[in-house]
Amino acid sequence: MTELVQDSNFDWTGGEATCTSGIIWGIAEQTNGLMALLLNAPGGVLTGRQVKVIGEIVGDNGIVKNSRRMAPILLIPKERVALALVQLEEAGLRLASLHGSVRNIVSCPGKGFSKNSRGDTLELAQALDTEFYGTVLPWDFKIGISGCPRNCSGVQCHDIGLMAEPRRRFSLWIGGTESGMNPRHGALIRKGIARAQVPAVVLRILERYSEGAEEYKEELGKRIRLYNVLEKTGVERFEDAVAEVLAE
Ligand code: SF4
Repeated sequence: MTELVQDSNFDWTGGEATCTSGIIWGIAEQTNGLMALLLNAPGGVLTGRQVKVIGEIVGDNGIVKNSRRMAPILLIPKERVALALVQLEEAGLRLASLHGSVRNIVSCPGKGFSKNSRGDTLELAQALDTEFYGTVLPWDFKIGISGCPRNCSGVQCHDIGLMAEPRRRFSLWIGGTESGMNPRHGALIRKGIARAQVPAVVLRILERYSEGAEEYKEELGKRIRLYNVLEKTGVERFEDAVAEVLAE
């Protein structure tokens, strides 16, 4: 069984963020010369204090752009990045991963916000982020969570999609992607997963994904996503892995 490692450390060299584990963190120079800092914010949630700190970093007329993955992007001059990283850390904010780890987790507002919701999606997004932030993976890994079949987060378009069911349970899709030239929907592989079992199920899928990427790396090359692995292994390997976890 592959043992996954976590590494959220990086060094800001003054020009780029370097990381020995291979994760590519969200600092990138833009064509207009500004640096974009991609922040981790599971479900797109920030506290009022964090919003204030972000405002102080970019300044009154500065720009914060929201991304499709619910991660705020700060646009600032390169010479202000070092101080900004300190201010962000003091506010409890971290950079998001761009490649080689779990991306910022997408979630609809869910319970307490939407009257349609069957579950606490933001709580799950935060819990999965806490558990899997900085997990070293073959390439990008996207997780999306919706609170009901209206499916505002598009769970079928993520590597892992979770949709709340009644009584603190979730349905699970795997292997979707919304981007690239060949977008595809993931496969529904299990319904009725208890909330308490979701982190263990996600962990096992990440392990199987890493193992599959290693197994087929000669054929698949670099930048192997879960859907590439599924094309080689079939979905059954993952269905069996999830069944094993749920039987433990
Ligand atoms: S997916 Fe359902 S619960 Fe979530 S925001 Fe949309 S309608 Fe509300």
